[in-house]
Amino acid sequence: MKALVKTASGIGNLEVLEVPEPVPLPDQLKIEVKAGAICGTDLHIHDDEYVNCPPVILGHEMAGVVVEVGDAVSRFSVGDRVTSETFKLTCGHCRFCQTGLIGLCVDRDSMGVHVDGAFANYVCQREESLHKLPDNIDFEAGSMSEPSAVAVRAVYERANVSPGDVVLVSGPGPVGLLCLQAAKSIGATVVLVGAAGDENRLALGKELGADVVLQAATDSFDELLDMTDGLGADVAFECGGSKASLDQCIAQSRKGAQLVLVGLFGHEIAVSLDTTIIKELTVLPSFTYRHRTWERTMRLLGDGKIKTSPLVSGRFPLTDWAEAFEIVRGRQGHKYLLLPVD
Ligand SMILES: [Zn+2]
Ligand SMILES: [Zn+2]
Repeated sequence: MKALVKTASGIGNLEVLEVPEPVPLPDQLKIEVKAGAICGTDLHIHDDEYVNCPPVILGHEMAGVVVEVGDAVSRFSVGDRVTSETFKLTCGHCRFCQTGLIGLCVDRDSMGVHVDGAFANYVCQREESLHKLPDNIDFEAGSMSEPSAVAVRAVYERANVSPGDVVLVSGPGPVGLLCLQAAKSIGATVVLVGAAGDENRLALGKELGADVVLQAATDSFDELLDMTDGLGADVAFECGGSKASLDQCIAQSRKGAQLVLVGLFGHEIAVSLDTTIIKELTVLPSFTYRHRTWERTMRLLGDGKIKTSPLVSGRFPLTDWAEAFEIVRGRQGHKYLLLPVD
């Protein structure tokens, strides 16, 4: 089969190679990949700014069909339409696994990072990491279940968002647009903020339910202040992964607000921690998800509370990955899919 492989550490070193098809262990299933979605993390791995363990097949956002089932698998059958958590191995007995925080497991392997991922024709995955796609969710929409779960974790589990809260989402990339929808599903009023060049992303944000969209460089935050008696947002989600976006979240949050960190920065940044102290912000980093997060995510997707199809801006055959990565890097559009090739 053909797979997009990080062949060596360092910047670049990505190549589509002919590799053997994976063989499922007894507790695993073999999945024929129907669609994979490119994530910012894939770019960070390309740039060697995120953990990677070459040689490794990239891709951790996917949907497909079960084509082979290991002997110890009980909940899935051949033909099931599935999507997957990234976790391929968690130890099951560390403090974090035992409390359901599998994303923090001390001995965790994730697909597309530590072990082979889904930018290929087939991927093998353990049973407990798989979720059946709701019938009304096609493979392309389903391939974005993973970033949806990231947003659901941030909005539903890390933050405490209540109906009527004024929520600031900074960074209208895919995860920002998913956080926006998750916050709307709770009944919050959402102000979505972008940077120069984010016009299309903000326009989609408006379509997906944002109450106010604005560009930080040119628009004022008066509307946010008007809504909040001049105080600022009750909850801010930093989804841009940039210093400017984080500074803005701190500046536009009210005293005592929750500041949820969702975007990875990829490098060190300087922040005015004094302001977070003086404002007594509750800073809540949010990373990956729990199994329970996915159960909730699948329901929100199935109910149409979170829509991923509008985020698809383009599809590329796996062999055109470099072109697709460049487009993602240019922050044009939203999500780009890589489709397997024979
Ligand atoms: Zn991702
Ligand atoms: Zn563990």
